[in-house]
Amino acid sequence: MDDSNDTHSSLWTSITKLFGRDRDNDEKLEQAILDASEDGEVEPQEKSMLLGILRFNDLQVHDTMIPRTDMDCIPIDSSLAECAALIVSSGHSRIPVYRDTRDNIVGMVHAKDILPYFDHDDRKTLTVAAIMREPFFVPDTKSTRTLLQEFRERKQHIAIALDEYGGTSGLITIEDVLEEIVGDIEDEHDAPKEEDIRPLESNIYELTGRATLEDLTELGLDLENDEVDTIGGYLCMQAGHVPATGESFILNGWRITVLDADPKLIHKLRLEPANLEPHADPASNA
Ligand code: ADP
Repeated sequence: MDDSNDTHSSLWTSITKLFGRDRDNDEKLEQAILDASEDGEVEPQEKSMLLGILRFNDLQVHDTMIPRTDMDCIPIDSSLAECAALIVSSGHSRIPVYRDTRDNIVGMVHAKDILPYFDHDDRKTLTVAAIMREPFFVPDTKSTRTLLQEFRERKQHIAIALDEYGGTSGLITIEDVLEEIVGDIEDEHDAPKEEDIRPLESNIYELTGRATLEDLTELGLDLENDEVDTIGGYLCMQAGHVPATGESFILNGWRITVLDADPKLIHKLRLEPANLEPHADPASNA
């Protein structure tokens, strides 16, 4: 019998019991953690990990996943050699396979399943369909906490998140889930992540389209909204179309100018107080 595994699961059970779904309890615990941190009894890193566990109760898969547009995936008629090239260029060891569009994920290729074909003459003619595995699908509204349990039970490390219409919403791995508790885990293959909010000057920021409305509230721009989470989504909703480079919006005393967008997605924005002179060239950053 594997003692360490046993200890691990009973510890897990205790933690999940301790951080159960009782909201009153959560609030008391959060206050206790903040008090202990103020008194110097808890280190800053311990504080953020403990708060991370508490917040974990409220998270759903769509809060944590990599959105569909950022997924590195491959069409089903691609050869093993093409898939190996994508594994190398993306640095990801698991590649979702789609038929026709990314909305229709039909399999998952794992790097280690390609390795036996490394020296094989057929690797340029065999397609990924020959070796792909069944994807593990989850609704994007699933609780992240439940997903962590399912990852453990199924010995799976990656899931495809689906929206309510059965289309692909994104992908999520066990690393994404654990990062919600312990903060960023950078493995040796992770590309550096782009900051969603980059201060340029006092009160002037460059944003990516996926900066969250919650983060903007902290800068003093309150756009709270139940329908969308990101500033890109908010502006598309306001405009009724995907705003183009150069379009700008005045919202609650702030000007938001689109610095870079394609027909489907806003990439970069500039946020500044509305009473400043508009920035001359939307395509240049600073
Ligand atoms: P890997 O080492 O194969 O990238 P991890 O589970 O360590 O897998 O994930 C690291 C990060 O990369 C996570 O944020 C995860 O969501 C993301 N990721 C994993 N696979 C893909 C993929 N095929 N396309 C885009 N992002 C991915």
